[in-house]
Amino acid sequence: MKTVVQPGYFDIKARNSAESAGASPLSHAILDSLPARIAVLNADGIIQTVNEAWVAFENENSLTVLSKTDYNNTNYIELLKRSEGYILEESSEAIVGILAVLKGDISSFAMEYCYDLRGIKCWFLMRITGLPSLQGAIVTHDDITDRKEIELMKDEFISIASHELKTPITSLKGIVHILKLSFGKQMRGEGGKLLSTMESQLNKLVKILSDLLVMNATPGAKVLLHLEKFDFKKLVNETVRNVKNLSPLHFLSIAENESISFTGDRFRMEQVITNLLTNAVKYSPQSNQVIIKSTVDDGKLLFSVQDFGIGIDNENLNKVFERFYRVKTKRTFAGFGLGLYISAEIIKAHRGKIWVESESGKGCVFHFSLPLTND
Ligand code: ADP
Repeated sequence: MKTVVQPGYFDIKARNSAESAGASPLSHAILDSLPARIAVLNADGIIQTVNEAWVAFENENSLTVLSKTDYNNTNYIELLKRSEGYILEESSEAIVGILAVLKGDISSFAMEYCYDLRGIKCWFLMRITGLPSLQGAIVTHDDITDRKEIELMKDEFISIASHELKTPITSLKGIVHILKLSFGKQMRGEGGKLLSTMESQLNKLVKILSDLLVMNATPGAKVLLHLEKFDFKKLVNETVRNVKNLSPLHFLSIAENESISFTGDRFRMEQVITNLLTNAVKYSPQSNQVIIKSTVDDGKLLFSVQDFGIGIDNENLNKVFERFYRVKTKRTFAGFGLGLYISAEIIKAHRGKIWVESESGKGCVFHFSLPLTND
């Protein structure tokens, strides 16, 4: 394997000696100006250079088993092996990632890790990015402690809020049940209907809260499905009607709604459709059109919700399905960044796909597709 660094890349030997004028001072200056710890590896994983932040961090925290100048020609993979269980618990995972990038099996690799720095729990994001023509890789370590702390606070908040809400909602459910038993016969017509709607909405709320608790406590937790055969067209009509009641100023129009017998979890599918519709309304403060389509193509159910609201820029397009991800916008919209994450988990559990097309300022089209079984 090639160990020679191509001209133009960074060379620690040159950096630490009189040759440094011949290396690329501009490249070194750029690397040194960055707050992340950065190392450049050659194709064999040998460190070619590290930036100032790297050296400063290792020295400040007395982490390294190397002295400052020893980085020269040190094999980073060996260094990680030596630190296993001592500095970095997840060394073996990092090594697998680095080797895969160096071999060109993958173009980049990232992992988050945590360690105790003088009694303080700190979080870092390690990223390995391959150099062109398999010449090596760039390793960066970013401090993500602040972001992680906010995530943990959100976890805690959601967990407390959902716990606290469960008690009054359960008690309301009990009251509605008693009302139905006591006045059921007298409440024929509108009153009885309203009580039944109230009961079914409370049941949904209880289920949503327990979902929030599970998803929050265990990111990546599998959604459990209760499969049944149901009329997807009817579900679309009902869900659109419910959201229309909540958002009377928006025009929710069903452009296509094919008759589909679908086997899946009806309640979960309603949750996904409700989430897409309420988002379409919420993120369209200047526009009131929402178009819904539900069709069948090539053995798949295709569902889409189009709005003409604020849209999502390219950079954030795939991130919106991540847990807690919210796009930063000038205007504030209420939310936690969990709805699309839960929706994506539900669609995944049905072996389907969910995605979004959008242009900033022009609105979004959220789609999902679900395989149709033959049963
Ligand atoms: P929440 O709406 O509670 O923040 P979601 O998981 O439903 O959480 O959505 C994640 C993020 O995706 C939102 O914060 C918003 O930035 C973006 N988003 C979702 N739906 C839309 C939409 N229809 N138009 C524009 N942005 C959207």
